[in-house]
Amino acid sequence: MAKNKQQKAKASKKKTWDLSPAPESTSHVQLKKKYELYIDGKWVKPTSGKYFPSINPGNEEKIADVAHADAKDVDKAVKAARKAYDNVWSKMSGKERGKYLFRIARMIQERAREFAVIESMDGGKPIRESRDVDVPLAANHFFYYAGWADKLEFAFPNRKVEALGVAGQIIPWNFPLLMAAWKIAPALATGNTIVIKPAETTSLTALKLAELIHEAGVPPGVVNVVTGFGDTGAEIVNHPDVNKVAFTGSTNVGKLIQNAIAGTKKKSTLELGGKSANIIFEDAPIDQAVEGIVNGIFFNQGHVCCAGSRLFVQEGVADQVIKKLKNRLDHLYIGDPLDKNTDVGAINSKEQLDTIRKYIEIGKNEGNDIYESSCNMPSKGYFCKPTLVLNVAQSSKLVQEEIFGPVLTVQTFRTVDEVIQKANNTPYGLAAGVWTDKGSKIFNLTGKLRAGVIWANTYNRFDPVSPFGGYKESGFGREGGLHGLEAYVKLA
Ligand code: ADP
Repeated sequence: MAKNKQQKAKASKKKTWDLSPAPESTSHVQLKKKYELYIDGKWVKPTSGKYFPSINPGNEEKIADVAHADAKDVDKAVKAARKAYDNVWSKMSGKERGKYLFRIARMIQERAREFAVIESMDGGKPIRESRDVDVPLAANHFFYYAGWADKLEFAFPNRKVEALGVAGQIIPWNFPLLMAAWKIAPALATGNTIVIKPAETTSLTALKLAELIHEAGVPPGVVNVVTGFGDTGAEIVNHPDVNKVAFTGSTNVGKLIQNAIAGTKKKSTLELGGKSANIIFEDAPIDQAVEGIVNGIFFNQGHVCCAGSRLFVQEGVADQVIKKLKNRLDHLYIGDPLDKNTDVGAINSKEQLDTIRKYIEIGKNEGNDIYESSCNMPSKGYFCKPTLVLNVAQSSKLVQEEIFGPVLTVQTFRTVDEVIQKANNTPYGLAAGVWTDKGSKIFNLTGKLRAGVIWANTYNRFDPVSPFGGYKESGFGREGGLHGLEAYVKLA
């Protein structure tokens, strides 16, 4: 009898369908074997002569070698940016700057397929995400800020608007091209010049963007791309001739940066970690909500700073939601990021995979009920099964700390006040999701949840017009929209 039950359970976990592989072709992609630094409109070798490999996390193969910039290279880049600011960019009319931004936007659209494939190869995210989200949004950001370049007087009526000068920008690995667009587009629209550093595991789309910016005829020195690790980032932050530091990344590094620039005149915006709550009420459209939860945390391997990584379900529907969620987890496709059927791609690096596994281990040791998807796993590459952490306490490390992986904690609640308290009870405040049939509940919660972005009956939706940013340890300053312009100007 017991054996029969086990067999039944096993059978119910089997996939209901199998899809033939549908990998996106890589034959059109043009990648160099070795990438230099893009400084003053030229490709230059790093002073140290050092390079590091960029690895495809989906198959653990090297894609290219990338230059490691040191203090001398960063100094060269900042000097080039200063010269371009003084002689060219700050003197150019907004209308002319806007034309360059429009050109960049259109060229990203023309090469969308190539950018999407490289993003998935280098970062591990499913091609569906990079094709439908990252690349179109990156182009839209350039279009949006191109429109503002000659209208700054309307953005800030009755104020005198001045650029800041040289912007040092440091970006993470979760949305490499999109984060570059978020940083570069508003800075150029407002008349600043740039030294930007992509993350060490995902430099390639930023380097391709440098090629595109070069072809777009952007004057030398206006955008400089230096690649490297944290040491390269620190050189940008500490350079005395950088006027503004824009950073997206971990809260720990954000704190280091804030310390480093304290007492200087450098302006800064920091977009840091998150531990965002996704809240499901009993009156929510349950199937839609379950899909929203999956989209919020699993489709992008949890590699989204605003990932809905804490689920709160009202008690009356908890069993139903958890059952549907487990079923959905078992039918996710995990594997080749370039396959159009893939739902969950590769974890960005071996180090990140180890970090996620460490957290799952902590969860097990704490005695939580851990549910891992029964989906098939590829034999090579850095992959992690989508995981639920059930019966978990508010004080658990897994509820309090950012994991940055496909791990969802699940807690229940009874009343609105209780869930507001629980949702706000982390050091972060980046985003939240509310699922309910009642508009009044949505308005009540949006006023009380301490999160920069709150989605209602949807999750992870972005638009260049909407500002994005956090409360508490999730950082300060806003990117996107009018607010995003303010971060790059002096107003008199
Ligand atoms: P994550 O945990 O998401 O990898 P990090 O904060 O470590 O985030 O990295 C985000 C970006 O910050 C990367 O480009 C990284 O190279 C850079 N970085 C890391 N350490 C420092 C530092 N001390 N100063 C400036 N930049 C840094």
